[in-house]
Amino acid sequence: MANPIKPDRSVVTTCAYCGVGCNFKAETHQGRIVRMTPWKDGKANHGHSCIKGRFAFDYYNHADRIRKPMIRDSISEVWHEVTWEQAFDFAAQRFRRIQSRYGRQAIGGVSSSRCTNEEIFLTQKLVRAVFGNNNIDNCARICHSPTQFGLSATVGWGAASQHFDSILQADVIMVVGANPTEGHPVFGSLLKRRVRQGAKLIVLDPRQTETVRSPHVRADVHLALRPGTNVAVLDSIAHVVVREKLYNEAFVRERCEWEEFEHWAELVGSDRYAPEAIGPVAGLDPADIRRAARLYASGPNSAIYYGLGVTEHSQGSTGVMCLGNLSLACGMLGREGVGVNPLRGQGNVQGGSCLGSWPHVFSGYRFVTDDEVRGSFEAEWGVALDAEPGLRLPNMFDAALTGHFRGMFIMGEDPVQSDPNQGHTIAAMSEMECVVVQDLFLNETARYAHVFLPGSSSLEKDGTFTGAERRVNRVRKVVEPLAGLQDWEIVVGLMNAMGYKCHYDHAGQILDEIARLSPAYRGLSFELLDRVGSAQWPCDEHAPEGTEVLHRERFPRANGRGTFMLTEYVPTRERVTDQHPLLLTTGRILSQYNVGTQTRRTANSRWHSEDILEISAEDAAARGIKDGDMAWLSSRFGATQLRARISQRVNPGTVYTTFHHAETRVNVVTSDLSDWATNCPEYKVTAVEVALVKPAGFDEYGRSLDRHAGLAAPDLSTATTASHPGRQEVHA
Ligand code: SF4
Repeated sequence: MANPIKPDRSVVTTCAYCGVGCNFKAETHQGRIVRMTPWKDGKANHGHSCIKGRFAFDYYNHADRIRKPMIRDSISEVWHEVTWEQAFDFAAQRFRRIQSRYGRQAIGGVSSSRCTNEEIFLTQKLVRAVFGNNNIDNCARICHSPTQFGLSATVGWGAASQHFDSILQADVIMVVGANPTEGHPVFGSLLKRRVRQGAKLIVLDPRQTETVRSPHVRADVHLALRPGTNVAVLDSIAHVVVREKLYNEAFVRERCEWEEFEHWAELVGSDRYAPEAIGPVAGLDPADIRRAARLYASGPNSAIYYGLGVTEHSQGSTGVMCLGNLSLACGMLGREGVGVNPLRGQGNVQGGSCLGSWPHVFSGYRFVTDDEVRGSFEAEWGVALDAEPGLRLPNMFDAALTGHFRGMFIMGEDPVQSDPNQGHTIAAMSEMECVVVQDLFLNETARYAHVFLPGSSSLEKDGTFTGAERRVNRVRKVVEPLAGLQDWEIVVGLMNAMGYKCHYDHAGQILDEIARLSPAYRGLSFELLDRVGSAQWPCDEHAPEGTEVLHRERFPRANGRGTFMLTEYVPTRERVTDQHPLLLTTGRILSQYNVGTQTRRTANSRWHSEDILEISAEDAAARGIKDGDMAWLSSRFGATQLRARISQRVNPGTVYTTFHHAETRVNVVTSDLSDWATNCPEYKVTAVEVALVKPAGFDEYGRSLDRHAGLAAPDLSTATTASHPGRQEVHA
């Protein structure tokens, strides 16, 4: 039905929900958003969109939005509304007091991929230039940090090699640990279009997702591997490529380090990676591994797209290296239709990686230990900077528990809900003397905060996002910020309160500063983006309107050559036991966005009102569980309950759920294991048990059972879970 309200104004902006980065025409009537129309000139979406970008915008005006800054002395007290100046001064005094008592390194910050490039850049500037240390991290730590590590090590840059439209020239598409139909729907449609046109499709995923099978689309090879065996299977695919001499020797000799190739070929070519050896480990038919390898290597254009199913493992970085190695060996880089492409989850994960919100690198992935690089930032910012890399987010929590870390600035993140092993996170947060949360809503983390700064949504501010294809897109203010300040203005306010004088007239000046300090962004400006629509980095004097395809002539490494990393398979320490005989893996659904802070406050919740546990018919029957029953899900870390759905999408031995609803508290269950190189949590593999919740009625874990009245827990005496202190009442 047509929207009866006639808009009086429109603005073209960018969806913040996922890494596709769709452009929309946002229409307003008397200062309120009435319609979001996919923008036909959007270079990432060409007029297409999904139900999140199109319909899930009402959250910006939801009654739960906090509209005034708030402070409190301790987390057991109620909140008090204050002015912005009072909030900034309170936070500044607390942070300075902590540093005088415990040292300069006792505070830090974390930024979010929901924020713009300009806000992410400013947050790391706050930490480096004002806090005086490098204790800055961002939420890519818990999703795509292995991408930066693994792709940088092999092909030079931790970013997608292609633009989305490149897939229309792919002959073979390999999707690894991703479900673009749900997670990146507009790109997912493009992928399906190419498959319908005749491209072959290989999918590595424990589940039978819509990408594997949906109307008119069926994967040619589906490797439904056991969670935790990615590296074994990818090495086995490489084994076939090496032993059957399917690699592109001319490409490797001309563009890569040949000696490193030989070392790698010797490793993956060994008998222990033969499909006949790996098949039983991964629960696969060896013939399917061989088919996948032959198909990928045959191309002629083969493209890899991957997601968190690769990165969120204890060998996440190794898995990414496997993909870099494979594409180099087969010569699948440097032209249209090929490449290795991480599908970034949130709207600005790529920007979060590019803009220096890491403890060891400045924007542009340049090390804080490099005197020349650090000197360029010192000259621009007018202060001496710390040359020692700082703490990663999990290390900040660990240090809080040992008494060395006492204060944190958290912009747009909800680590209590989103980080693994929730009990550990809560214990660490409870130890801190000053937690400043900047967000739209009082999220779970705000329970442990002393200062709440009401942030602005992407609809209320100016800036840029960098999508999964490296595309920098304009975010334009559609409505005024409900609490009065855009997020970048809030960070500037805190910087000034802490004694660092800082001023920008508008967000475009922050992008100008980014361009001065970050080589790949050198040519970017609001003026350019307003003129050309959007541009993919690197954008500089050699590519004034950006670069669609990377690695055409050389790789961005010192010698210009790609290289091969050794990728020995090391099984995760997370193993099934008699007590926890199933493997839990997690993912997301089309209508909801990550931890659901925004989408749960829109009508999209009609499509997905609770997280569901998918379980095979065999595993359900063995436990007396029927479709729709409530089930206890327990691991050695904790337990929670959710509704079970009997599904053919998961194999026996594997269960699956999403993590969009705070009350489900899936991260009470997930393990504390993480990637060996980057600390990215192993969300995708947790040994669990599932049990029927019998009718009768209590919740030993303190959860509200309003939705599920009349249901009670079985005896899970070994399970532990975290309590939920922290009062959220507000006194105006
Ligand atoms: S969620 Fe992703 S695919 Fe959907 S409209 Fe937004 S950017 Fe596009």
